[in-house]
Order: sequence, then structure tokens, then C-alpha cells
Amino acid sequence: MTANILFSARDALWPVYEPLITRYLTEAGVAFTLSRDLAPDEVDYVVYAPNGGVSDFTPFTRLKAVLSLWAGVEKIVGNESLQVPLARMVDHGLAEGMTEWVTGHVLRYHLGMDSHIVNPNHEWLFNPAPLARDRKVTILGLGALGEAAAQALTALNFQVSGWSRSPKDIPDVTCHHGDPGLAEALAGAEIVVLLLPDTPATTNILNADTLTLLAPGARIINPGRGPLIDDDALLAALDNGQVGHATLDVFRVEPLPADHPYWAHPNVTVTPHIASETRPVTAAQVICENIRRGEAGEPFQHLVDRQLGY
Ligand code: NAP
Repeated sequence: MTANILFSARDALWPVYEPLITRYLTEAGVAFTLSRDLAPDEVDYVVYAPNGGVSDFTPFTRLKAVLSLWAGVEKIVGNESLQVPLARMVDHGLAEGMTEWVTGHVLRYHLGMDSHIVNPNHEWLFNPAPLARDRKVTILGLGALGEAAAQALTALNFQVSGWSRSPKDIPDVTCHHGDPGLAEALAGAEIVVLLLPDTPATTNILNADTLTLLAPGARIINPGRGPLIDDDALLAALDNGQVGHATLDVFRVEPLPADHPYWAHPNVTVTPHIASETRPVTAAQVICENIRRGEAGEPFQHLVDRQLGY
């Protein structure tokens, strides 16, 4: 049998992924056809990104699985025309990239770097940082990305707490879970990193109430998804000093509209959804391993729970 694979992602990715998927499937001994243009009723697998053009899966009558190039699946998880397994991207290259981005911004806040980099009045600012062992960092979301970031931060001696839906046991990380665990995880946090998926249960998880749990002047780092934060509440907390600064990579509307208050706010750094890209070399291996599994009758990896939404 030949596996027919439709590549449905933005145009620029095709010349990057086509040789990689071809190479890895050939090495795995999988017979396949890979194309950007297949009749829907001939397709076995869709390699998927939300900007690839496929939104109605009804005509894909022999589809075996949809394999997302993105870790976040909020744009497809509720698609009722999709009736086959949906796998998301869990890629160590993506996790490495996110760990670097998160660690960089945590260190930037911890060391107070901004005050020296932007110092227009040439002030002699003597503001040495405490050691990381005295800095409380909380990570909301301890999945593939949150756990990797937590491990890097504990290796630097930060006091790391985390929060997830189910219980976790991560060395040197104080793990909280479930509804009561959220307040415990946020209490007194000086730097908060959001690495939750965008689901109905996580919408506005940082809001006027939960922001008051943080240490005064806390820093927020959001590489998760825009809807995790109640924007009006964050802007109010930035204005009254409850939150000292926020670095935001993701937004409800992307690109962030030019007139959005975040752009002009002196205590907000906006980055354009660049915290961590899916890395083609490693991501193509993840995609190909799932196709190999599908063809061998083995269970797929990294399946999304459609009820939970991630
Ligand atoms: P993941 O492995 O699915 O981890 C998600 C974590 O969130 C898990 O620990 C999960 O708990 C927790 N969680 C989910 N719902 C929860 C709830 N209601 N209450 C408490 N905890 C909850 O996802 P990931 O691969 O780490 O990715 C996380 C997110 O990062 C993605 O969904 C995406 O939005 C974002 N992302 C952003 C970029 C970027 O460039 N900005 C790149 C990649 C990904 P359990 O462990 O108990 O399930």
C-alpha cells in the first residue's frame, strides 16, 4: 500500500519539508506519495497547519490521521468535520527553542537588564540582582514545553513552581495541579511564564483576581497563547504597578494591531509570535514516525484529546 500524504501548510514550508519528509519516509521503508495537490478522497494523511487552506475534512473519505505542524491546536481541535485522530507537534527542537526564549527572558527580568540597556539619562544604576536561588518563577503549564523550561530554570537555581491539570513529579520543581493548585502556584510569584494551551478551561487564566496573587511588580512572560490573559486586567495591573512588566509573544489577534495599547505601553515588550518555531529537521521526523506507525498499524504518538482541547 502507498500512503498518500497531502502537505497543507503555507507555501514557503513546502521546499523545506518536501525533501525532509521524502528522506525520512524513504529511510523508514514507507511507500508514499507526497504532494500539495491530491484529490481529497485519495488522501491518507494531512500534514497540517492552519494557514494551509484545508478546513473541511468531509471530502477526505479515506483519511487516517491529521498531523499538525503546530504544537497549539486550538484552530483545528473543534473542527467537527474532522473525525480521525489528530496528532500535535511534540518536537525536541521546538522545546529547545522555547527553553532558550523563556530562559533568556527570565534572566533578562531577573538581572534587570532592561534598565541598563535603555538608560537615556546615563544614570549610574546600582541595582545588583539577587541570586536566582532567591527568585520565584512560576510556570503555568508543565507539558512538553513547560517542563523543559522548568528544568532549565532549576538548573540555574531559580525557585521554580509549576501548575498543570494532572499531578506531576519534576525534580526540584514545586508542582501544583488542578483548581486549588493555581492560587498556590501563583502566590508570591515574581516571574510568571505561561505555557498552557488555549482551551475553554484556560481562557483568561491570568485575570484581575489571579494577578493580585503575584508578588508586587511581578513580571509576566507569555509565549503560550493570547487568550490566556485578560488583556484589560493586565493593562490595569501594569498601570497600577501590580505587574511591573510583561513580555508577550502571542495575542488574541495576530499580527497585533498597530493601535493596540500593548505596543505603546512602556512596560510591555511585544514579540511577534517568535518564541519557538517548529524546527523542520526534527519536526519532519515526528511527522514521518507517525506515518510509519499508521502504516504499520501501530498507535499514533502525541494524539490530541478532543474533549480537553489539547
Ligand atoms: P502540552 O504538552 O500539551 O502541555 C500543556 C500543559 O498545560 C500540560 O502540563 C497540561 O496539563 C497543562 N494544562 C492544560 N490545560 C490545563 C488546565 N485546564 N489546568 C491546568 N493545566 C492545564 O503543550 P506544549 O507542547 O507544552 O505547548 C504548550 C503551548 O505552547 C501550546 O499549546 C501552544 O499554545 C504554545 N506554543 C507557543 C509557541 C510560540 O512560538 N509562541 C510555540 C509552540 C507552542 P497536563 O500535563 O496535566 O495535561
